[in-house]
Amino acid sequence: MAKTFNILILGGGTAGWMTANLLAKAWNKRGISITLMESPDVPTVGVGEGSTPYIRRFFEKMDISESEWMPQCHATYKNGIRFTDWTTKPGFKSYFHPFATQLDATHFNVFKQHVGLRRKGLHIHVHPDDYFLMARLTENHKLPLPHDHFSHQAFYAYHFDAKLLGDFLKKRAIDAGVNYLSGNVDKVEKHPNGDIAALHTHSNQRVEADFFVDCSGFRSLLMQKALKVPFSSYSNSLLNDAAVAIPSTAETPYCPQTLSAAMPCGWRWKIPLAHRTGNGYVYSSAHLSADEAEHQLRQSIRSVNKSVPAHHVKMKVGRNQKHWERNCLAVGLSQGFIEPLEATGLQMTLVTIEQFIAHFEKGHFTAQYQENVNNGINAAFDHIRDYVLLHYLANNRSDTQYWKDCRGDLAISDSLRGILEVWSQGGDLDNELQRQNISQYYPSLSWHAILTGMGIFPASFYQDQYKIQQFHQSKANMKAFFDNCVSQFQTIKSLDPQGTVQHAS
Ligand SMILES: Cc1cc2nc3c(=O)[nH]c(=O)nc-3n(C[C@H](O)[C@H](O)[C@H](O)COP(=O)(O)OP(=O)(O)OC[C@H]3O[C@@H](n4cnc5c(N)ncnc54)[C@H](O)[C@@H]3O)c2cc1C
Repeated sequence: MAKTFNILILGGGTAGWMTANLLAKAWNKRGISITLMESPDVPTVGVGEGSTPYIRRFFEKMDISESEWMPQCHATYKNGIRFTDWTTKPGFKSYFHPFATQLDATHFNVFKQHVGLRRKGLHIHVHPDDYFLMARLTENHKLPLPHDHFSHQAFYAYHFDAKLLGDFLKKRAIDAGVNYLSGNVDKVEKHPNGDIAALHTHSNQRVEADFFVDCSGFRSLLMQKALKVPFSSYSNSLLNDAAVAIPSTAETPYCPQTLSAAMPCGWRWKIPLAHRTGNGYVYSSAHLSADEAEHQLRQSIRSVNKSVPAHHVKMKVGRNQKHWERNCLAVGLSQGFIEPLEATGLQMTLVTIEQFIAHFEKGHFTAQYQENVNNGINAAFDHIRDYVLLHYLANNRSDTQYWKDCRGDLAISDSLRGILEVWSQGGDLDNELQRQNISQYYPSLSWHAILTGMGIFPASFYQDQYKIQQFHQSKANMKAFFDNCVSQFQTIKSLDPQGTVQHAS
């Protein structure tokens, strides 16, 4: 590439700045010029404080250490998600979806064996909270960080202040040579062949580029509006389309988990940050008004100051039919969004940029592998949607029409149907995940955790005293093992006045 290749990123939310950092890291030294333009007037979405362990790849790729970014973004550790009140079944009103640790392999096999016995009807109580170290660490307010002498690692994620993370990434990108422009784009100019040629702003700026990245949020100004790429809505399976967020004071010591508690018409998150607690209610606007959602959320927060304003957001749930079209890639909310239950927004951002960089390079900076990228990202969106949908399908609440509708006449993919059939017929779930080749989206542990945690078991029981005794013995051994392991992990001590989490050894 003799001539400088110019990439213009539209939008300075988390997606825009993550893209800018990753592209600069990959291509700056190869003579590719990267510019980010954002509106001084259109705010970022201002939510998105949770993550999956996948996000650690971003910081590792960028050589950003936890000690550098976490204090600046008031970040905390996340060991997993606790779901409460999604079912009313005795013994299954709450469960923890853990992230894995290196110590889980043996116990996961024991878990699957016990789950298998329970699925065949043996009279035992099998619950994921008893089988994974992360659940025990979380209960004990322990970080996923072992002491130096203990070599077993845990795979964890983070919580962070979305605005501060954006600011942090912006500074990093500009320091790395990304050009920055401020402007309100109001017109997209195209070449005769339909490719995007330049963006025009309110103040008559014309910014041209060879390639464009649409990070303009739900507006999707380039991909959906200018290039007319169709949007496939998930509203026929996922009912939530709105959210309201209200911060409250920080809790010390914080509990290193996202709480996802079912509410009358959706669910609420509680996310511990170093300087405050993030709270939000994700709901269906067809079932609940914005005012009532705000009221219910305020009622659920213990220490909220009435004068703290609520932040209301409308969500467009679904995905573009293509993410890379012509000379444009959509990243972040402009490409799609699966509601935030599993906090996969930034994961999809990262997956998209990684896929794009790999394939664009492989095709010598042409669109040769565009279809591969689009198919791969569509599959990731759809399979994550399936996993999220299962939380709703598996509810047994009858207190509101919302919860009945959540297991009503919804679109269910063949893939998810296959999984549910295998489970209900007592088949081998691992075989099914392998047959469908979908473990890369959610692993066996996650599927077992949700189906077991929500108590999807046969109603009838049989007794076998020998097997039941063996089951209790095995659980007692595991408990002793976990008690021992818990002491090998660091404790959360306190917050300093700047809101930085202090760790005790
Ligand atoms: C309720 C909710 C909860 C969420 N929770 C999570 C979570 O826990 N974990 C997670 O990973 N993700 C979560 N997400 C998703 C996450 O918030 C987003 O993926 C992330 O913030 C990236 O957003 P974005 O950068 O794509 O868009 P935005 O933050 O909306 O940024 C859009 C950018 O485009 C710019 N722009 C718009 N119009 C113009 C214009 N005309 N000219 C110039 N610039 C323009 C804006 O100025 C802004 O800079 C959540 C989303 C919602 C709605």
